[in-house]
Amino acid sequence: MKILILNAGSSSLKFQLMETDSRRIAAKGMVERIGIEGSVIKQTAGDKIYKNEQPMKDHDEAIAAMMRALTHTELGALKDMGEIAAVGHRVLHGGEKFSASVIINEAVIEAIRENIPLGPLHNPANLMGILACRRIMPDTPQVAVFDTSFHQTMPKKAYLYGIPTEYYKRLKIRRYGFHGTSHRYVSARVCQFLGINPIGTRIITCHLGNGSSLAAVVDGKCVDTSMGLTPLEGVLMGTRSGSLDPAVVQFIANSEGLTCDAVLDILNKKSGLIGVSGVSSDMRDIDAAADSGNEDAIVARDMLAYSIKKYIGAYAAAMGGVDVLVFTAGIGENNWALRRRVMEDMEWLGVKMDFSKNDCLRAQECVISADDSRVKVVVIPTDEEMVIASDTLELVHCIDKNTDADYNDPRFRLG
Ligand code: ADP
Repeated sequence: MKILILNAGSSSLKFQLMETDSRRIAAKGMVERIGIEGSVIKQTAGDKIYKNEQPMKDHDEAIAAMMRALTHTELGALKDMGEIAAVGHRVLHGGEKFSASVIINEAVIEAIRENIPLGPLHNPANLMGILACRRIMPDTPQVAVFDTSFHQTMPKKAYLYGIPTEYYKRLKIRRYGFHGTSHRYVSARVCQFLGINPIGTRIITCHLGNGSSLAAVVDGKCVDTSMGLTPLEGVLMGTRSGSLDPAVVQFIANSEGLTCDAVLDILNKKSGLIGVSGVSSDMRDIDAAADSGNEDAIVARDMLAYSIKKYIGAYAAAMGGVDVLVFTAGIGENNWALRRRVMEDMEWLGVKMDFSKNDCLRAQECVISADDSRVKVVVIPTDEEMVIASDTLELVHCIDKNTDADYNDPRFRLG
C-alpha cells in the first residue's frame, strides 16, 4: 500500500510517498516558494531526480505539480494517483480536541480552523494542504496527525500556567507541547529496542533539533513537556530563546519602542543560539566557532547543555526518578559532544555513561550508558514520517473494515 505524507507550510509543501509493506520511501520532495516568484518543485525517487521551476500561485497548484512529479513517466514513482491509498497530513495544533490522529471530515476541518489562533503560522498552511488534497483527490481518505496530541495526557498541574483561570477557561491558554509524534515514536521505540515494557517505565525524551523539546513519559503517556502554548517555551533553541521571565518582553518593548509582536519576533527568530552567539543557529557552526575560541559561541553552547540538564533534573524529580533517557533529532542524534556535555556529572541520577560508546556515534540506535548503569541512556533516530504513515494506515484499515474505531484511543501505533 502507498501512503502520501504531507507537511504543508505557508509557502512550502514537503511530501513523501511511503510503501507501507517495506517501509520504503518511494519518493520524497518539496515545493518551495508557493505564491512567490520563483516557485520550484524538487523530487527524488530512488536515484531519479526531478526538478521543475514553474509559477505556483497557491497550494492547489503545488499539489497538482506534486502529482505531475509523482506520476512522471521517467522520473516519477507512480503510474497514477489512484495508487495512493491515503494521505497523512502533519498538523501543528490540535488544541484540546485531539488526543490521537483522526480521519479528516468536515468537523475535523472546522476544529483545525478553530485552532488557528493557537497556531497562527502553521494551522492555516496545514489547512490549505488538506483542502487542496480534498479538492484534487476527493476519493482518497485523509488523516490528520497532530504535533500536540501525544501531550494531551498531561495532568492539569503540568499544563496550567499560574495565571487567572479565566484565561484558560475563556482563551484556552495552557501548555500544549509540540514534537508529539517524535516524542511518541522514540518513547515507544526505545522500549521495543531495550525489550522492556512501557508500563512501569519512566522515560525522558530529548528531541534536540533546530527546535528542541523534552518530554517526561510514564507508562507510555506524556506527563510533562517543555514547550508550552507555543513552541517558544523550554530549552534554548536555534533561533528561539526558550523560557524567560515574561517581564523581559515588556522591558525590551518599552526600552526600544517596540510592539509586543515585534519583541516576540525577536524571541522566536533572532534569539537562542544565533542570538547569544551572533554566529549561527546551527550547532555545527557554533561548535566550529567555539572550538576556535569564540567566547559568545562557547557561552551559547554551554547554555544549551545547561538548560537541557536542568529539564532532565526537573523531570526526574517530577516522575520520582527516571529509567530511560533518549536523545533524538538533528542535535540529539548527531552531536555526540553536546550529549557528552549534558550527561557529564549525572551520576547522582543513577546514570553511568560509557563515553566510548557515545563519542563519535551519529544517527544510530545505540545504548550509550554503561552496561551496569541503572538508567539507560539511548540514542534513537526519530521517524515522524513513519508514525504519520502508520497512523494513516491504521485509520484507513478501520474504515475498510467498517469498524467503529475510537479515534481518541491513545494507543501506540508503530505498525
Ligand atoms: P529541524 O528541527 O529543523 O527538523 P534538525 O532536527 O535537523 O532540524 O536539527 C538541526 C540541528 O541538528 C542543527 O543545529 C544541526 O547542527 C544539527 N544536525 C543535523 N544534522 C547533523 C549532522 N549530520 N551532524 C551534526 N549535527 C547535525
